[in-house]
Amino acid sequence: MTIWTDVLDLFYPRLCMVCSRTLVTSEAHICTFCYDELPRTGFNFQKENPTEKILWGRVPMEGAGSFLFFNKNGMTQQLLHHIKYRGRKELAEGLGRMYARELKHDLPDFKPDLIIPVPLHRRKENRRGYNQSLSFAEGLSEVLGVPLLPKAIKRRTHTATQTRKSRYLRWENVENVFTVEQPEALQGRHVAVVDDVITTGATLEACCKPLLEHDVRITIMTLALARG
Ligand SMILES: [Zn+2]
Repeated sequence: MTIWTDVLDLFYPRLCMVCSRTLVTSEAHICTFCYDELPRTGFNFQKENPTEKILWGRVPMEGAGSFLFFNKNGMTQQLLHHIKYRGRKELAEGLGRMYARELKHDLPDFKPDLIIPVPLHRRKENRRGYNQSLSFAEGLSEVLGVPLLPKAIKRRTHTATQTRKSRYLRWENVENVFTVEQPEALQGRHVAVVDDVITTGATLEACCKPLLEHDVRITIMTLALARG
């Protein structure tokens, strides 16, 4: 593999997604310098961390954690830009693997039963070609050795009547937009619900609500935490 990677690198140099430096064979997506500088939250699933606090009183959970802080014009924003607008699916997977490797090192006992990514609005998924939360979850699943259940929750697509409703009413509707599709696989399990960015927590709250009706224990994992 390495010989081929070396040969390919000669003709198609891979560049760091943050600083555009040419990557060496052992580096994936991000150069060693930028990797060390990533704005990690470092709080894993510690109690009362900022990600958990966003969902306090809204989602009963085992814990919550985010890999990176999101700051405007910072590294995380750049990485998310590649993921969301430049189709860099493999970067989302790579970041999932990075987060999982660090968790595995810090918390060797952390092992949920299942990983479920928050489904993306179908129109957005079609435009982007993939769901970035699913790609991030794939990286997590691979390294943690925890099965992924990408179709356990379904996001309803907007109907014509919904599009005609006012913005306020549509916002109200997000509350009931997710439904559980595979209840038998979820009953009584410990599920890691995975999203790309947590901001107000409204989407994650809406996504977790139907899961809680099936006696599911929830851990929240996000790629980034946007600080308000
Ligand atoms: Zn770099």
